[in-house]
Amino acid sequence: MPLSRRDFSKLAGFSAAAALAPGALRASAQSGVQPGGSSVAIKPIGYCIVGLGRISVDHFMPGLLQSQHGKVTGLVSGTPDKARALAAKYNVPATSVYSYEQYDKMRDNPAIDAVYIGLPNSMHAEYTIRAAKAGKHVLCEKPMASTVADSRAMIAACAAAQRKLMIAYRCQLEPVNLKAIALIRSGAIGQVQAIESANGFNIQAGEWRLNKKLAGGGPLMDVGIYSLNASRYLTGEEPQVLSAYSSVIDHDGRFNEVEENVGWTMRFPSGIVASCNTTYGADMDGYYKVHGSKGMIELSPAFGYEGIHMTGFTGSGAQKQPLDMPEPIKDPQQFTVEADYFADCVRNDKPVKMSGEEGLRDMELMMQIYRAAGIKTS
Ligand code: NAD
Repeated sequence: MPLSRRDFSKLAGFSAAAALAPGALRASAQSGVQPGGSSVAIKPIGYCIVGLGRISVDHFMPGLLQSQHGKVTGLVSGTPDKARALAAKYNVPATSVYSYEQYDKMRDNPAIDAVYIGLPNSMHAEYTIRAAKAGKHVLCEKPMASTVADSRAMIAACAAAQRKLMIAYRCQLEPVNLKAIALIRSGAIGQVQAIESANGFNIQAGEWRLNKKLAGGGPLMDVGIYSLNASRYLTGEEPQVLSAYSSVIDHDGRFNEVEENVGWTMRFPSGIVASCNTTYGADMDGYYKVHGSKGMIELSPAFGYEGIHMTGFTGSGAQKQPLDMPEPIKDPQQFTVEADYFADCVRNDKPVKMSGEEGLRDMELMMQIYRAAGIKTS
């Protein structure tokens, strides 16, 4: 059963709901009503896309094409041909296409309200801090950085410039994940006892993700972060203690700098225990299972761009009932929702749910997991 509009408002606030709701709510982005009753056009938030790689070009920018709250108004790339082709497709004037060296010049571009950072992890901090100093809001991909110190510096720079900072935790706005959270909070599966989650893929050689300086770490930083973040939003708690192991099985040159596998277990204050795995050595369709005293919720896949699927039940024996299933949404709608949510926070000066502090918490925990697994952190 699809989530009702009321469910959305309760779960994620009006802004995420508005981005997903058809017709009326969408239209309100283009026109607002003044106190006297006359309507006034509302300009979409202009996003400058920094780093024209897979997440930007294949997902976030197509998501903006479907948005009425945000649009692409600038591009930053080191590859002029790619930038030119995308500028033509998205109607971005040549004067709003920048090289990395010219990045700070966007300070003088009023069409750019915010930057979207789709760069390798260790570059997030520099481009966030420079954007804040140029007076722009920042929507930064996960993980927010490659170190705790960089994460703190990003938060400080955005606070000093009075600019919003959001980390692109799209699953925190995704309807099936929101439904899982709502069911757990409503007691539908009783007291949660245990969570199992895994996320990983079989990585190709030559990726920047295998370079510790650019990535900060291996699969934990890249995809294990989904299981970590989900364990936190599903429980609504922060882990109290954790243990971890890591290994390299494939000695084929890919894992000279970062780990291949990490498994970790966290105990939360209520006593819930979460067990998670991540790998760069096998294709895992990222999932989680939440086991409660009166039922179970499984999302598989849980973290993909589309087709997120819930199964589960409440009760036991003859009372066992299947749970209602929300409709999955299609790529790139998650990115439309994300861009619109941030546009609403910027335009209406609302607090950001997936804040820099939220990203920092994961970063601190990932460093604890690495230390528990015997992996050196910087
Ligand atoms: P990608 O390799 O496809 O793109 C990276 C971009 O950065 C490219 O345009 C590349 O040219 C540019 N770049 C600039 N300097 C570079 C350098 N020194 N080395 C390598 N590339 C450089 O990567 P991606 O998969 O798009 O990931 C980018 C970011 O987005 C990462 O932080 C990743 O964790 C995140 N991501 C998020 C999601 C999500 O669902 N939210 C999914 C994938 C990736």
